Amino acid sequence: MENFTGRIEKNFSLKDLTTWKIGGEARYVFFPIDRKDVEIAVSYAKRESLPYFVMGNGSNILAGDQFFDGVIINLKEGLKEKTVVNFFEDEIEIYLGAGNLVPEIIKFLIREELTGLEFLAGIPATLGGLLRMNAGAFDDEIMKFVKKINFYNPQRGFYSLPKEQVRFGYRRLEIDDGTVILGASMILKNGKRDEIKEKISSFIGRRKEKQPLDLPSCGSVFKNPEGSYAGKIIEELGLKGYQVGGAKISEKHANFIVNTGSASAKDVLTLIELIKQKAYLKKGIVLKEEVYYFNINKKVRAMVL
Ligand SMILES: Cc1cc2nc3c(=O)[nH]c(=O)nc-3n(C[C@H](O)[C@H](O)[C@H](O)COP(=O)(O)OP(=O)(O)OC[C@H]3O[C@@H](n4cnc5c(N)ncnc54)[C@H](O)[C@@H]3O)c2cc1C
Repeated sequence: MENFTGRIEKNFSLKDLTTWKIGGEARYVFFPIDRKDVEIAVSYAKRESLPYFVMGNGSNILAGDQFFDGVIINLKEGLKEKTVVNFFEDEIEIYLGAGNLVPEIIKFLIREELTGLEFLAGIPATLGGLLRMNAGAFDDEIMKFVKKINFYNPQRGFYSLPKEQVRFGYRRLEIDDGTVILGASMILKNGKRDEIKEKISSFIGRRKEKQPLDLPSCGSVFKNPEGSYAGKIIEELGLKGYQVGGAKISEKHANFIVNTGSASAKDVLTLIELIKQKAYLKKGIVLKEEVYYFNINKKVRAMVL
């Protein structure tokens, strides 16, 4: 592809792009290096009349088992800008590109002695995905720290919006279909290196204690209903350890469905529907998925339902 500086793969398995290790092949995967590459990838898809889908580290995606005849634009190999933009009295404005993975962000925080985003430690995600999902943990969420977000879409081109002009809520940021998040300016505070490191290891320790990190998953499958925890509800339904094919409700944390080796998207969907039905019939609770469905075949979904 002319002028595209990143990597392009053909017939590439989504199993290698999602933390659940589930999914069929995609016709093309573009890994842009910079914003120009993003524009080229989108233009290519448009020109060829192929659907395109934007991904980060695939840690919140259930990808269908069948072929995706389109273009995946995967940001995890590029858009790695990390810069200090402005100093205020006790605050600092930074800019982070959407392709930065959490360990890269954490390294930057430690190097620059910046505090605020330590709660991200241990989430296997890119900044773009964290923003799209308004990811959160330990009573914090990423949108709290955002000043401005940069976007690209084929209708508007490159543009940026201050936080006041974007709509977001619990585990969601509203963006138009086909819009790519390119990066964000964020406001953090000056911190002390040792204290930042200590916070990070304490958060990672708490994750290891509670989460099944030895097997592929997407983290929490369901959003927490107001005033309650999805994991607790699923545990009370007696579903811990329940297995369909290669997909299993974790014994350690009931809101995690782990891939024991050969799980298909259909196995996971079957478990999700079982949990939703039991939660509703036995407790009157409507559980809603946090995980994002991509390329899930309608026929498969109908069979499961
Ligand atoms: C072990 C584990 C622990 C986890 N812990 C947490 C946690 O504590 N808190 C939490 O909130 N989540 C958690 N998650 C879920 C997941 O990591 C988050 O939802 C994360 O924000 C997803 O980021 P990603 O880069 O992997 O995005 P992906 O999974 O690749 O994509 C998620 C969604 O964002 C969209 N997207 C991604 N990048 C962009 C972009 N640049 N522009 C436009 N749209 C984009 C995709 O289209 C998709 O809709 C966990 C997951 C795992 C596996």
